[in-house]
Amino acid sequence: MSGAILVCDNVTMRFGGLVALDGLSFDIRHGEVLGLLGPNGSGKTTFFNVVTGVYRASAGSIDFEGREILGLSPQAVCRAGITRTFQRSRLCLGLSVFDNIMIGHHRALNHGLGFNLFRRKALARQVTESRELAHELASSFSPTLGRRLDEPAGAVSMIDRRRIEVCRALVSRPRLLLLDEPSAGMTHEECRQLMDDILAVRERMPGLSIVIIEHEMGMIERITDRCVVLNYGRKLCEGRYREVASDPEVQRAYLGA
Ligand code: ADP
Repeated sequence: MSGAILVCDNVTMRFGGLVALDGLSFDIRHGEVLGLLGPNGSGKTTFFNVVTGVYRASAGSIDFEGREILGLSPQAVCRAGITRTFQRSRLCLGLSVFDNIMIGHHRALNHGLGFNLFRRKALARQVTESRELAHELASSFSPTLGRRLDEPAGAVSMIDRRRIEVCRALVSRPRLLLLDEPSAGMTHEECRQLMDDILAVRERMPGLSIVIIEHEMGMIERITDRCVVLNYGRKLCEGRYREVASDPEVQRAYLGA
């Protein structure tokens, strides 16, 4: 694990008079699991939205694999190799598990007419590969899910729905995966299970970098290599979970003192 896959430099995001990200700078390294921590309202989700092109930053730059990505559309960011999950489920419950996963494949496609006309064979190959990967991912996350690919997503359990969302984010083979509170609304045991799944994914996709926003600190300690703590849209500190958790400034920020 070495070098940065993404370099965030002086990124500022204003909503009118509110500064949600305030000159934020930090790196995400190749192959690491990075915990993005901070009290509510510290700018974690805004950071994900800025990276993925949902919000346009007011200033700064984000370099991903040597390329400036600020200003790209969400689809272009996805094509560049960054995908995400959302705090609130975005599954189409009436569609099959398989089709829900394949939405991740379609998001990453270049839909330009010229591109599609001239690269039909390549596109067909990509579809076949993604379909195979969708099967593989679902089965490796959970054999039961792998057997229920044709059922509506609404028929599977909460944890399987979360797994579908992670599979959807992975089916386009990203190099950077952003997970926004994947364990929200789940029991402690489900949460532990999902984190094990995420660790297994990491083994399966060597080189994949993961950034995770999560309030379950036990999970953060277990799965992250490093953490960055935000407060008021700025980086408060970074380091291994134990180091940041024992930092008095971090404790003050969480306690609101
Ligand atoms: P976190 O994810 O750390 O809880 P957020 O990134 O959601 O924090 O929010 C950071 C700040 O930006 C908050 O004060 C929030 O109210 C504000 N904010 C986020 N999105 C918007 C928006 N679309 N419009 C106005 N304010 C926003």
